[in-house]
Amino acid sequence: MYPAPFHYHRADSLQGAISLLQELGDSARALAGGQTLLVWMKLRFDEPQHLVDLSRIPGLADITQDGNEVCIGALATHAEIAKSALAEALPSVRDCGSGIADAQVRSRGTIGGALGSADPSCDWPTLLHTLDATLTCIGPEGTRTMPVSELVEDIYTTTLKTAELITEIRFKLPSENSGGAYNAFKRCAPAYPTGSAAVQLSLDGELCSEIRLALGSAGLTTITSKEAEDILRGNPLTASNIDKAAETIVAAADPVPDQRGSEAFKRAVLLTLIKRAIDIAVRRCNGETIKGHHEYA
Ligand SMILES: Cc1cc2nc3c(=O)[nH]c(=O)nc-3n(C[C@H](O)[C@H](O)[C@H](O)COP(=O)(O)OP(=O)(O)OC[C@H]3O[C@@H](n4cnc5c(N)ncnc54)[C@H](O)[C@@H]3O)c2cc1C
Repeated sequence: MYPAPFHYHRADSLQGAISLLQELGDSARALAGGQTLLVWMKLRFDEPQHLVDLSRIPGLADITQDGNEVCIGALATHAEIAKSALAEALPSVRDCGSGIADAQVRSRGTIGGALGSADPSCDWPTLLHTLDATLTCIGPEGTRTMPVSELVEDIYTTTLKTAELITEIRFKLPSENSGGAYNAFKRCAPAYPTGSAAVQLSLDGELCSEIRLALGSAGLTTITSKEAEDILRGNPLTASNIDKAAETIVAAADPVPDQRGSEAFKRAVLLTLIKRAIDIAVRRCNGETIKGHHEYA
């Protein structure tokens, strides 16, 4: 199916894009990789009359590190991030980026678009919750930062204001006694996950000193659970503690039955994924090199 007719505008600067988006108001959408937006338009899920293409704006796709702070430009593609030095240093980033869809989608789709779509099935938001990422957003009223946890109001709906764009994603590199993992289960490469799980944890001897857990494709927004994290934080990572924490975060999930599976099936998948992610994170924390990857049916 073709999308309804629209006007295409190519922005050559960030301020130019913001001014145009402000002028055109609700009839316009920012276009990054188009891997979600064009699908929505073809399905008549969204019918903007104007697209403002961000992809030629210089400087918005850089992946840099300043001290222990990482900065990923919103226009960095999934493939660029998966192949970056950052992914080499932080295996959970490689786990996540290298498993998104297929090579074609990975080479066009951007991290900013994955966040801007507010799609709970997208992989990056789940991982970024466990890295306590913050987003730099620039709009007509200036620049502000917000925790990634404040971006999504509801499914497909962000808290961004009119003409406001995500420009950067920032997070601190985890400390040396930390490990992370990202795991997703998919029917096939070009399909969104049936479920996904991300973990970032730190160990202090036998005790888990810090932990962040998140589930994706598990409800209308990314699912987190302070209660589940509290079961593990300050305690040893025994099988029984891990089981309790995994059951607690999965109980907080609200997976929607669809062509990817029933609610019960998705809960079973999420339970396996979160336990597996914790196991990989602990082993990485202990110095093992583990090639995490998405699981395919
Ligand atoms: C076949 C297929 C399979 C896929 N499978 C997966 C998968 O397994 N996992 C996964 O995570 N994703 C998957 N995707 C989605 C893909 O990752 C998209 O690239 C991503 O979700 C959106 O990024 P984009 O750059 O293409 O954004 P676009 O489609 O251009 O934009 C998406 C939305 O975000 C807004 N937006 C874009 N950039 C910004 C910005 N900088 N600031 C604010 N708002 C912005 C747009 O206005 C639009 O509303 C799949 C897509 C396809 C077509």
